[in-house]
Amino acid sequence: MTDVCVVGGGPAGLATAIAIRRHGGSVTVIDCSTPPINKPCGEGLMPDSVTALRDLGVALPANIGFNLRGIRFADKRSSVCAQFPNGVGIGVRRTVLHALLVQQAQDVGVQMIWNAKGVRLRDDGVLIGRDLCRADFVVGADGQNSQIRRQAGLGRVAKERRRYGFRRHYRIALWSEYMELHWGPRGQAYVTPIAEDEICLVMISRHKHLRLEDALLDFPELNRRLTSGMAISSEMGSLSISRRLERVCRDRVALVGDASGSVDAITGEGMSLSFKQAAALASAFCTGKLNDYQKAHERLSSRPLAMESLMLALERRQGFQRRVLASLASHEGVFAALLSVHVGESSFLDLCSWRLVPFGLKFLAA
Ligand SMILES: Cc1cc2nc3c(=O)[nH]c(=O)nc-3n(C[C@H](O)[C@H](O)[C@H](O)COP(=O)(O)OP(=O)(O)OC[C@H]3O[C@@H](n4cnc5c(N)ncnc54)[C@H](O)[C@@H]3O)c2cc1C
Repeated sequence: MTDVCVVGGGPAGLATAIAIRRHGGSVTVIDCSTPPINKPCGEGLMPDSVTALRDLGVALPANIGFNLRGIRFADKRSSVCAQFPNGVGIGVRRTVLHALLVQQAQDVGVQMIWNAKGVRLRDDGVLIGRDLCRADFVVGADGQNSQIRRQAGLGRVAKERRRYGFRRHYRIALWSEYMELHWGPRGQAYVTPIAEDEICLVMISRHKHLRLEDALLDFPELNRRLTSGMAISSEMGSLSISRRLERVCRDRVALVGDASGSVDAITGEGMSLSFKQAAALASAFCTGKLNDYQKAHERLSSRPLAMESLMLALERRQGFQRRVLASLASHEGVFAALLSVHVGESSFLDLCSWRLVPFGLKFLAA
């Protein structure tokens, strides 16, 4: 018996379990895999992710990964970068982050059941094979293909777009303390330093059959750098889904993380959103007003979804992409202001009021 049963022990499920435990409820996490759980990921935590984790009581040890100072955008002709306005981000191996979250969950008294097959939602809790985990409340944190979402009848999609992501790690001398997003004709390459001598490379594209080796031919500068390093993991792929659900909770069931909808991997915002949703869900659980979670979920998703739309608009039109990058390269302040919105330090309104309008006028006149 438990107050809350969380199905899925990835970043979202563990963060939710930790948050609920901090409010005093008993929590059991059930996952079909065994830790440390790996998943294709850019492995970058934005500064607001780090803050969201800290707010949940999860402190990242100083040596856990690599401190990221900001973001650089580049294509064959232009390059522009800006520092994060609100501290540093952290590049950290997915398995290392997962092990840390498992440890923290254990420390605060979360019960965890791993390698649990055949998990099914019931009115009085969750069935694991033939065993019942009786719970007052069930959280579906079981990722993109959530079964809990389907079984709870929360699968109605308001909007969905799919792309493909592939990642691989390289041992290499770092050339930058920035996360880099390289824009190419068939997709985007996204580089996150995760240690003094290690990077995580992700390629995201619309092309199902495009693999890293082939895609890298579109990025000669990056490709040249990588030849001085060595691949140290195998290529791992996943769907990168942008999905908005009509509802993320009902009765005694709520969804969190990718199970509750997701943003395209290009935003690097998936985990940040998950951690913020975890805090919102825990406080709604505490007050018993689940509908507050629905509203908080919509509010938390709105900025990442808007930034996603901007980035995917660049992705679709090559000529537009080139022009925007060239303009941003000569207006670094605008790029810094956009980054500030991206990491939640300022609003779209701040951006429009004084930076974007003159930039837009110059862009149109060019
Ligand atoms: C290519 C790519 C790059 C990305 N890069 C970044 C990045 O740089 N930064 C960032 O913040 N985000 C990034 N993201 C997004 C991020 O990976 C996700 O948002 C994040 O993993 C969501 O966590 P989650 O816990 O909701 O889901 P998951 O990590 O998918 O965890 C779901 C868990 O549920 C378990 N599970 C699944 N089905 C069942 C079942 N039936 N029964 C029991 N357990 C089950 C799984 O074993 C897993 O442990 C990226 C995504 C992609 C695809």
